[in-house]
Amino acid sequence: MEELPAELMDVLVCPSCRTKFAWDYESNELACTSCRLTYPVRDGIPILLVDQARQD
Ligand SMILES: [Zn+2]
Repeated sequence: MEELPAELMDVLVCPSCRTKFAWDYESNELACTSCRLTYPVRDGIPILLVDQARQD
């Protein structure tokens, strides 16, 4: 899958620590560089739920 649009990346923050995401090009997921949680993106929709995230 492609990276999420920049407009979306600009507004999305980690629900756990409110830090903006980095795009993980290897797994195509949203990676929080602060608390190290990685959130899945399914069909272009970020799943910003802590219980769906995995710890790096
Ligand atoms: Zn975080």
